[in-house]
Amino acid sequence: MPSAIEIQAVSKRYGALQALDDVSFRVESGEFFALLGPNGAGKTTLISAMAGLSRPDSGSIRIMGHDVVRDFRAARMSLGVVPQELVFDPFLSVRETLRFQSGYFGLTRNDDWIDELLFKLGLADKANANLRALSGGMKRRVMVAQALVHRPPVMVLDEPTAGVDVELRQSLWAFVKELNEAGHTIVLTTHYLEEAETLCNRIAMLKRGKLVALESKDKLLQHGKEREVAFKLSA
Ligand code: ATP
Repeated sequence: MPSAIEIQAVSKRYGALQALDDVSFRVESGEFFALLGPNGAGKTTLISAMAGLSRPDSGSIRIMGHDVVRDFRAARMSLGVVPQELVFDPFLSVRETLRFQSGYFGLTRNDDWIDELLFKLGLADKANANLRALSGGMKRRVMVAQALVHRPPVMVLDEPTAGVDVELRQSLWAFVKELNEAGHTIVLTTHYLEEAETLCNRIAMLKRGKLVALESKDKLLQHGKEREVAFKLSA
């Protein structure tokens, strides 16, 4: 069984800025994994490399054993990404958005699964609403549904709770936990150690493009507050 995600010596520069510096780690199938780091640590850069949206200068990334550059399609089919920014056509309805995304993955008969996603995410009564008419929270739910249209085994969420109210945050986490219990591998990025600790089994910390720690939750809890204080001070 291949690792769900295998990051091997990945580096990426933007001009003089080293956004990722020789980052390596694996996420095993079924894990709930957190990528923690302050602003500018390189989390989004790493996610866009995982999704094949930007190419690392060196190193490689495999999703479920598929190299993201050489075997893009298979890697992309294995990965669902919920980006930080809300990106979609505001004039499409929720259902049209999910059909459009299904088309991107070559799935022309996906309506049963789309209906199930709408139901599970509390969007069933919004199926025909235009996206521009939805609240920010509802839009974020659509983003989650969009990431799952092709039933990927691995799901990456980039700061999904940034700017989200408490109620949506809790329902989002309940949903993602359910996905994980159903066998999906989950990776989330966050600024908050507390969020990572509550939800995840293992935590990687990035700082200025470098992997500075990779620990199990138990170990992290052992180090407890000391680590949190040290992390905050260095952030
Ligand atoms: P945040 O928590 O704020 O989203 P992050 O950990 O996701 O931060 P990245 O967005 O990956 O960090 O950015 C890492 C660094 O690379 C930052 O200094 C950022 O300004 C820079 N950067 C990211 N994308 C580009 C780009 N397209 N061109 C130039 N610099 C970039």
